[in-house]
Amino acid sequence: MPEIVAAVARHSGAPLELESLFLEEPRAGQVRVRLVATGICHADVIARDQIYPVPLPAVLGHEGAGIVEAVGHSSSTLQVGDHVVLGFNYCQHCETCLAGFPGNCIHTAQYNFGALRPDGSSPLSDGHGAIAGSFFGQSSFATHTNVSEHLAVKVPKDLALDVLAPLGCGVMTGVGTVFNVLRPKPGSTIAIFGAGGVGLSALLAARLSGCSAMILIDVLKSRLAKSLALGASHAVDGSGANAVELIREITQGRGVDFAIDAVGKPEVFRAMLDSLTVRGHGALVGAPIPGQEVSLDLSQSLGAGRRVSMVLEGDAHPQLLIPQMAALMSSGALPVDKLITRYPFGEINRALADSLSGDAVKPVLIFP
Ligand SMILES: [Zn+2]
Ligand SMILES: [Zn+2]
Repeated sequence: MPEIVAAVARHSGAPLELESLFLEEPRAGQVRVRLVATGICHADVIARDQIYPVPLPAVLGHEGAGIVEAVGHSSSTLQVGDHVVLGFNYCQHCETCLAGFPGNCIHTAQYNFGALRPDGSSPLSDGHGAIAGSFFGQSSFATHTNVSEHLAVKVPKDLALDVLAPLGCGVMTGVGTVFNVLRPKPGSTIAIFGAGGVGLSALLAARLSGCSAMILIDVLKSRLAKSLALGASHAVDGSGANAVELIREITQGRGVDFAIDAVGKPEVFRAMLDSLTVRGHGALVGAPIPGQEVSLDLSQSLGAGRRVSMVLEGDAHPQLLIPQMAALMSSGALPVDKLITRYPFGEINRALADSLSGDAVKPVLIFP
């Protein structure tokens, strides 16, 4: 049984602890991946802090990228040496999975936040007991992981794995929401609330779609500056002024064709809807904290043909969208490298703090 090093979450809200653990051999249909890099995403923080209850102790992390090191019995799609990006987990067999929407798999909560294999067991132990080691099917805050081959997406070897890692969740969420759900026509206008990893990925996709006005709204000046550097046409400070009024001014009173709430707070969701023009389409992405309620003016917020979509993982099939995004990165059209800040794996707690404060848009941990 190989010995690995992992960052273990043992207590709610406490710093992760680097520990040596034992990893089982990959089961049938699985591969063992040596992680080269992993992104940090908001869901890791809300799991560490038990806002979404994940069984502890656990190894978190769900934007892993690495190299296949061992192949389990009957695994057929991957070989030792393949470079892979790890996506979220899904059952492959429910109606929504079969329809091509694995982000809405009916087992999403169990398969991702349950942090265990479907049979309730874990591949990781510390010699005393099990450590939950299947967060999003991957638990990528570790030097090695066993994953089912359906969630390991083969990528070209000439692309850097540290830049590819965030394609597995944050970038896929932002890009997929634009490409798969909103589908703006060239010349459309879009407002994106929240200029973090998801919002800025959506901006890159909006640029590729030929949007004209691309308005980013955030409360951090550093992120507004980054938005403009990445091609936003306008950056609106959402902390004091009325963002909806400013968006209407920018669009000559009309409002925007498309809007994304990448924050997940009631007041932002309401502002996102109120910024839409008639027949506008808004999207709430990601995982809001449970229990938040929002009040709407039914004749205004959702009147005049307006629509709203609740989007998980960009409504994407990872085996389709990750290679497409990798191809766009190859041609220079999707500069994900401009979103990331690299940290050595040993500095994971600093990276988590920088993710929470907004100092880093997309922290990526590099394994030794
Ligand atoms: Zn399913
Ligand atoms: Zn995520």
